[in-house]
Amino acid sequence: MRRLTAVVAGRCPRCLDGRIWRGLFSMNEVCPVCGLRFEREPGYWTGAMVASYALGVPILVVLIFLVWLVTRWDVTFVLAVADGLFILVAPLVWRYSRIVWLHLDWLVDPVRG
Ligand SMILES: [Zn+2]
Repeated sequence: MRRLTAVVAGRCPRCLDGRIWRGLFSMNEVCPVCGLRFEREPGYWTGAMVASYALGVPILVVLIFLVWLVTRWDVTFVLAVADGLFILVAPLVWRYSRIVWLHLDWLVDPVRG
């Protein structure tokens, strides 16, 4: 439960306390509380692309359904409007994809010390 709260709040996978993000589009290189280096190695964020897909597709499906429910437009217009709305939430998906990736990677292969 503490880990889930840390994921939602964007906290470090090791101490569950330090902020991962210091701004809307900028990450801390290391955890300000425990010193964990977030980007373990070059190419580390490639795994976050999978998390981004896993987060983004369900959100897009919900947006498509909601736009269709409200408007009952033709599918082409529904897809266009839903895609436009998705662009608005894309920065959040991007942020959370990195947070989710950090926590999943931590659960599989934690860095001690
Ligand atoms: Zn930490």
